Amino acid sequence: MTPNEIGLMLRVGEDPAESLRKVASLGLSLVQLGYPGDAWLAEPKRAQLKRMLDDARVRVFTVFIAFAGEDYADIPTIRRTVGYLDPATRADRVARTVEACEFAKALGALYIHMHVGFIPVDPAHPQYAPLVDALKRIADGAAAHALGVALETGQEPADVLVRFIGDIGRANIRVNFDPANMILYRSGDPHDALAKLAPWIVSIHCKDARPTTEKDKLGEETPLGEGAVDYPRLIRGLKAIGFTGPLIIEREISGPEQVRDVRAAIEIITRLLGA
Ligand code: MG
Repeated sequence: MTPNEIGLMLRVGEDPAESLRKVASLGLSLVQLGYPGDAWLAEPKRAQLKRMLDDARVRVFTVFIAFAGEDYADIPTIRRTVGYLDPATRADRVARTVEACEFAKALGALYIHMHVGFIPVDPAHPQYAPLVDALKRIADGAAAHALGVALETGQEPADVLVRFIGDIGRANIRVNFDPANMILYRSGDPHDALAKLAPWIVSIHCKDARPTTEKDKLGEETPLGEGAVDYPRLIRGLKAIGFTGPLIIEREISGPEQVRDVRAAIEIITRLLGA
């Protein structure tokens, strides 16, 4: 991996070969792989996917873990359905995450990566300690495969995440920093958050968003450079902390519009890195 290599958050869907052609057409060879669905986790499909990646000369930095039933429609729905917060689904999801480590390792990933859900701001919240415990089990399961665990930022303020990482107390817990999520979820200034989370950041999501004032709603994702993230300042901030990890472009739409926006984002990031 080259310093600050630009990559793509890739949701492979039903046809990984087509998704990998998209990566090649963009001139990229590093991805964070969206969860491909349970069918790909086991042989023979797992080896088939690995072959497709190798043939396309695409390396996998993280595998993003997701679960059936997660829904990002609005804040209350996310709170109810995403990650490991709900005691009704927690044990099963932790077990599935630990199982997925074998898949991530087989694909050559360095990290598993996820939204853990809304981390309670108050550590006395009844679900805080069980959530910490869930992440300890996930971290230990990942460590058994020499993998790290990258926590996706943005559903909580940086201070809450820093305390949570300290409470998990595992050396392989790291952070995938998504500045746009801080805007989408109104969880603080991404530039301040970058400084606070710097010791744990292993990768960046290059994504942009505009905030909303509408209660319970997420802000709106935009093409990079058109939202509230100050990319010149962000890249200066990354240089200031000596960050050399990958810059992963994430554009959560599909089709030709996504390809066009990713191409434009690559140009912006390349220019700022050289400035
Ligand atoms: Mg992200």
